[in-house]
Amino acid sequence: MTAMSFLMVLPALLLVAVLFDISSIGSSSVSTNLASDAVLQTFNDVEGDIPILTSQVLMEEDKRVIESGESLSNSRKSLKDDLQGELNSKYELYGNSTGLKVKCQVRAVDSSAEPFEVEVNTTVWVEKGNISHMENLTQEVSITSPQCRVADPIPFIKCKYYGGVTNTTERIIYGSSLENYLNYRGVPNAWAYENATSPLIIKKCPYDPYKSHGKSQGFIILKNCIDNGYFHESSDGSCFLCRLEGKSTCPHYGFETFVVPAPSPNNTVNSAPCSSDHVIFNDTNGVSGTYPGNHVVYYKNGVYYFKLFLDNGHQNKYGII
Ligand SMILES: [Zn+2]
Ligand SMILES: [Zn+2]
Repeated sequence: MTAMSFLMVLPALLLVAVLFDISSIGSSSVSTNLASDAVLQTFNDVEGDIPILTSQVLMEEDKRVIESGESLSNSRKSLKDDLQGELNSKYELYGNSTGLKVKCQVRAVDSSAEPFEVEVNTTVWVEKGNISHMENLTQEVSITSPQCRVADPIPFIKCKYYGGVTNTTERIIYGSSLENYLNYRGVPNAWAYENATSPLIIKKCPYDPYKSHGKSQGFIILKNCIDNGYFHESSDGSCFLCRLEGKSTCPHYGFETFVVPAPSPNNTVNSAPCSSDHVIFNDTNGVSGTYPGNHVVYYKNGVYYFKLFLDNGHQNKYGII
């Protein structure tokens, strides 16, 4: 080949070299992208699974407590261990055939600043080949979503040794057990809670601001709230995780509901233990944890008076005074 003919062929040789190079870069970046897509997709799947599995373990522990009446000694640890177990069994063999590896460590399950949620902290690590993704996640899991229906465990724990409670799909029926429990503690006027009821499923009250309950015409909002069995945010009432431990009050921001006395054909009683559940079940300071309230008739159907007993603080909170 003469020098001249070589120079004429050179551009073609260069072009081939460049094209070959591009195609080889292209194929390696395609496989890198595929691996990184698979890693990110799997990471997103795990991130989506954690709240679902958390809801499951919350409902399972709640069910165990209400069926046995036995509180958990450390609900945060039990739930953390349960969730870790679920994640381990789901992801142990996940993606083995495709070379994907998943590890998920539950760092903590704890109360959230939002009382109707539980906070879950995890570290999720996904690897495929030389591509990996690791992230610390903090997720707030609702305890009142359609995927997470939990019953209030406190009445089942507190009344277990006083005759126990029964329930319908919506309400807890105390029979004589609440009266027995209050009498045992020496609380005056315990008989006002013979055949009382309270809500079974924890549901967040939509009537906000809360003062609307008492300000409404004929207490219609208060009545709707009681009929629907709603719970209200409360700094005095315990959070869900402490309720699983049988505590009616706790340091966390929690919630409260009304324990509703049976409707009465007469209106002669005007003082009895305050109907807020954290007051009724506050047995940490003996009798003094349960203080009295004045009667609030929120409905009358001609024969029966429907009433709560509320102290000034609670009457003020719900707009009754
Ligand atoms: Zn309400
Ligand atoms: Zn708490």
